[in-house]
Amino acid sequence: MRNKITISALAMGLAVGSFLMSASDADAQSKRRFIAIGTGGPTGVYFATGNNICRQVHREAAEGRKSGRKHGIRCSAPSTGGSIYNINQIRAGELDFGVAQSDWQYHAYNGTSRFEGNKFDKLRAVFSVHPEPFQIIVGGESGIRSWDDLKGKRVNIGNPGSGQRGTMEVLMAAHKTTTGDFQVATELTSTEQSKALCDGKIDAYGYTVGVPNAGVAIATDGCGAKIIDLNSGVEKGLVEKFPYYAFATIPKGTYKTSTQDVTTFGVMATFVSSADVDEDLVYEVVRAVFENLDDFRQQHPAFRNLDPKRMIKDGLSAPLHPGAAKYYKEKGWM
Ligand code: GLU
Repeated sequence: MRNKITISALAMGLAVGSFLMSASDADAQSKRRFIAIGTGGPTGVYFATGNNICRQVHREAAEGRKSGRKHGIRCSAPSTGGSIYNINQIRAGELDFGVAQSDWQYHAYNGTSRFEGNKFDKLRAVFSVHPEPFQIIVGGESGIRSWDDLKGKRVNIGNPGSGQRGTMEVLMAAHKTTTGDFQVATELTSTEQSKALCDGKIDAYGYTVGVPNAGVAIATDGCGAKIIDLNSGVEKGLVEKFPYYAFATIPKGTYKTSTQDVTTFGVMATFVSSADVDEDLVYEVVRAVFENLDDFRQQHPAFRNLDPKRMIKDGLSAPLHPGAAKYYKEKGWM
């Protein structure tokens, strides 16, 4: 009975509230839309990417309120398991957008590798962001200098659902290495792995991530970990065979232990969505990012060199979402 009174009093309050609401407030509210962007672990660059995109969406909303160009979009970018998780959640309609490695965008759209028999043909590319070199980070005293030295060591292969786990498995297959070749293969998340390395619980971990980033710095600057070269014939073969891989350099001086350039292979971080997500919603998000690109570049060192000409092309293998294509055409970029 008491509950009933409270609820009806509340309902009355709401009714009076909406009666007092001005026509333009009601209009903005009816158009209010919430979007969710899948990222990665909180110390990675995907988390910074998703939250940077939300920052620009909200900046545009604030500017729009002054100029009368309202879009009503509210954005959140929670931490997630990474690329493959994000793609699967977009397919399930649980996320509207996500950040994903270009290799996993390719495989999901084409139904290859991990997505064999499970093709996601509604996957759509929006733009690409920063390069992501695949890195093997090793303990300073581990004695590991090359891939072959990982044999018999404790290696973190990454949490299921992360992009690095997928890419690590591809690289293991290419090197004909199995988890049985390691003393232990752990499945720690990107947030746990650097601490585990510094605590001496693992000897090495694989991570596909933008440079520089706080997670890797915990291990390099914090406990003397190093990044090894991955430029043998095996990696050369991968780069020659697959369009989504390219060689990448992690320059000397990036971290405290970066005493020389490191050569490895890598992918691009890309921003993806689904054909089921409204064209005008994607258009507004894309517009917010590119109209505020100077601010976007300032939010993380991995974004400093972003170039729109490359962002609308590099690493995109799924078709462009029509909402993104509309904006790029308006700008005369395509
Ligand atoms: N590339 C990683 C993944 O797909 C995430 C890297 C990051 O969080 O910046 O899981």
